[in-house]
Amino acid sequence: MFKLVLLGPPGAGKGTQAKKISEKYNLPHISTGDIFRRNIKEGTPLGMKAKEYMDKGELVPDELVIELVEDRLEQDDCKDGFLLDGFPRTVNQAEKLDEYLSSKGNSLDLVIDLEVDEDILLDRMIGRRVCKVCGANYHIKTMPPKKEGVCDVCGGEVIQRADDTEETVRNRFEVYQRQTAPLIEYYQEKNLLAKIEGTGGPDKVFESIVSALGV
Ligand code: AMP
Repeated sequence: MFKLVLLGPPGAGKGTQAKKISEKYNLPHISTGDIFRRNIKEGTPLGMKAKEYMDKGELVPDELVIELVEDRLEQDDCKDGFLLDGFPRTVNQAEKLDEYLSSKGNSLDLVIDLEVDEDILLDRMIGRRVCKVCGANYHIKTMPPKKEGVCDVCGGEVIQRADDTEETVRNRFEVYQRQTAPLIEYYQEKNLLAKIEGTGGPDKVFESIVSALGV
């Protein structure tokens, strides 16, 4: 079982690849963005705090995120392996993760960095739609649902995420460059980074990931 991190700019396809990786390797998929969105939907105090930042495209403060991830990693299904998607997003989060894992005698096996040009990413994200109920992903140009606004999988309503509007998307890129991109060097220095070309379709990208994992 692997202990993995999936890294990459917003819209690089982390969610899509995470689903494939977690199915093939039987790893719990831990998406901090999904956890926050669930908390927002349920109206929890955490969700209310996180929403303020998410709607603007800012990062949720480290102290809220780190505790949440550590609690999740304590659960039984993460004992032998996990896939972190969207965490860490700052060097401080990465250091805290390292400290947490080493306190358990563990360490990461690989950090998968999905690389995609910014122009492509903007187009992907502004056109991105998601099912409110089951989370299935769509794109208005390349992968629209069969019936507009209705999920093919579960019949739920297909919407644009509040943080996928153009203004928020541009801010998320800036935040990524400033706060998350330094992680590439951080993990490169630890010899953990696998750079994966994130264009060419989800199946091709997934093949490259599988070959980087070597099994
Ligand atoms: P995502 O679905 O991974 O794109 O995350 C959506 C939003 O959730 C981000 O733009 C942040 O506001 C927040 N978020 C998710 N993960 C983190 C994290 N590790 N640190 C801080 N904020 C996060």
